[in-house]
Amino acid sequence: MTSSPTFPVESRPKRRESRKRRLQEGGSAQALRMRLGERAMRRGRVWVAAAAAATLAVAALEALACWLMKRRRPAAVREVLFFPSRLTCVEELLAEEGAPEPAGRLRPAPRCACPLPHHRESALARLLAHLLRARRSLELCLFAFSSPQLSRAVLLLHARGVRVRVVVDSDYMALNGSQIGRLRQAGIQVRHDQDSGYMHHKFAVIDKKMLITGSLNWTTQAIQNNKENVLIVEDTACVNIFLAEFEKIWEDYNPANYTFFPKEEKQVLKKTTCGTEKQLSK
Ligand SMILES: [Zn+2]
Repeated sequence: MTSSPTFPVESRPKRRESRKRRLQEGGSAQALRMRLGERAMRRGRVWVAAAAAATLAVAALEALACWLMKRRRPAAVREVLFFPSRLTCVEELLAEEGAPEPAGRLRPAPRCACPLPHHRESALARLLAHLLRARRSLELCLFAFSSPQLSRAVLLLHARGVRVRVVVDSDYMALNGSQIGRLRQAGIQVRHDQDSGYMHHKFAVIDKKMLITGSLNWTTQAIQNNKENVLIVEDTACVNIFLAEFEKIWEDYNPANYTFFPKEEKQVLKKTTCGTEKQLSK
């Protein structure tokens, strides 16, 4: 007679108990997994929200910085002036009292009592106003310079400590009415051409950031009678090109490099290239 193997047999209540425990354990593990999953999702959502908030904050800061920069820096100057200019009084613009006080603030100029209109919108007044904005440097490259108002503005800038350099045509600087002598007497550096052609430019560079150029000779005749144009721009690329040309001419006209030649020869050449000789009042 063979005996069959025997297995421990749980009693019915015990089996029921263990099945219940297994179910409970399985349920709690599943609940734990779900809780962990939810926590991870919540953490992910927090990170996404934080990243979005950081991106928005950076964008807002950039926009704020741009806005502040725009507020601090006025728009670049782009202006065209046409001459002849209306006749207006520019004394208030040129008054010595307009010079900066030690604190850097402008003292208001006294009211002028002359009968001319005193608004500042004439072409000459606009040109003077831009010129008088110079604070550090002024390069002038001018064929003819006889306007007393523009000369006073340049002298005023020199007195304020602005570094002024002037390049002119050698013939026109010597004619009656030329302001070049006054500038030199005040101690302003002036250099002139010494070759056969005219130094025919008419441009100025202010503080190495603003260019004034056009057809206008800085003479009273041109300002009050001629049809002329002047372009005033704050454009770094243009300014740098004109500055480079100025520096080249400045060095070309360095007195140390002068090569003298007969005056007659120069006059003949100028008459040949330009036709008739013109007066300073051109
Ligand atoms: Zn006046």
